[in-house]
Amino acid sequence: MEKIGIFGGTFNPVHNGHVRLAKHYMEQLGLSRMLVIPTKTPPHKAAPDLADSDDRLAMCRIAFEGMEGVTVSDMEIRREGKSFTVDTVHELKKEFLDAQLFLLVGSDMFLTFRKWKDWQEILKNAILCTAARTDGELQALYACSRELSEFGKTMVFDFPVFRVSSTQIREKVKKGESCRGFIDPKVEEYILHHGLYKGQDKMEKNEKDYVEIIRPLLKPKRFEHSLNVAEQAVFLAKRYGEDEHKAYVAAILHDICKNMPQNEQLQWMEKSAIILDDNLLTQPPVWHGFAGAEYIQQVLEIEDEEIINAVRYHTIGRAGMSKLEQIVYLADLTSKERDYPDAERMRQVVLHSLHEGMREALIFAVRNQAEKRLPLCIDTCQAYNEYLREETDRRA
Ligand code: ATP
Repeated sequence: MEKIGIFGGTFNPVHNGHVRLAKHYMEQLGLSRMLVIPTKTPPHKAAPDLADSDDRLAMCRIAFEGMEGVTVSDMEIRREGKSFTVDTVHELKKEFLDAQLFLLVGSDMFLTFRKWKDWQEILKNAILCTAARTDGELQALYACSRELSEFGKTMVFDFPVFRVSSTQIREKVKKGESCRGFIDPKVEEYILHHGLYKGQDKMEKNEKDYVEIIRPLLKPKRFEHSLNVAEQAVFLAKRYGEDEHKAYVAAILHDICKNMPQNEQLQWMEKSAIILDDNLLTQPPVWHGFAGAEYIQQVLEIEDEEIINAVRYHTIGRAGMSKLEQIVYLADLTSKERDYPDAERMRQVVLHSLHEGMREALIFAVRNQAEKRLPLCIDTCQAYNEYLREETDRRA
């Protein structure tokens, strides 16, 4: 039976991590063919600074040129609407009737796979393969693989880790640094020649500018709360070695859409390329984080993905939160005006450990929703399970 690998991605731009991964999979799985498929609009992640799809396609063609068995396909770029993998898998299944399909994804995609549209259907039609992007990720991948195995076949590979991301490349290009060793020299030449990822010369806003931006958008109490959350976030950033400016910006903006009418919040939220889970859509109180993440990108032109995600997940949390996301999440719960019954104890816990703080906060969040007989967002469940799993692993 023919074995075909499907390697999708934003490839914004394609880098040596992608190329190495493709080579490893070709060898290890004995693939006869691999399709590298740049996506048009990535549905699973925020994509600031997205180069034109023709440019991303052209760069992939350069990077994979001469690699036996590999074809760069424009099937998702040509397709109308968002690029959903399930549609790609169905299309390929029809084209290659007797082939075994392998869907190849990095750890970030694998760990969040259950948020993909029709993920169970994908697992029925393709074997899901993954490998770590950073050291120490394998355990989490095996655990996730066990959970997914109920629905289909998955494979975890222990390939050598190559720490590079397209985000890093874009930042290097923006700063005028060389990308040697991280991308194909011909791809670098293409980027420079076409003036990609240079960024626009935007007026950098300072912290006071952001205070003035939120002031007219929020009710007085909410405005006061945002100032306090920013103060607490900077305090935690100092304590735990995070960038204080980023902590301030994410925290001061975290509730920027909180006082917006619900229908407008929904409209902002739906502009997101991220797939929205049904439990989220039925709970207006958590919409403002997702709406805020879109608003700050489009209106304030914020491109820093960590800040955007800290705003997006500040109410519901998610598995694999960055340190900045944890800081904003916990600063929101422990700012000085908070006076719910456990507020003082939570302030003490976060002084001692961010990790403990997150665990306590998630237990609190899950209990709170259950007591009110309200559904939990998938992201919250996954965050809760992750902190619980780490605790069980530590005890073992
Ligand atoms: P960005 O930094 O913009 O988020 P990226 O580097 O993750 O981009 P994608 O185009 O989104 O690049 O990646 C396509 C696929 O390749 C994804 O499944 C991703 O997890 C995987 N991948 C990307 N870089 C690596 C790497 N260094 N090691 C292993 N897998 C990777």
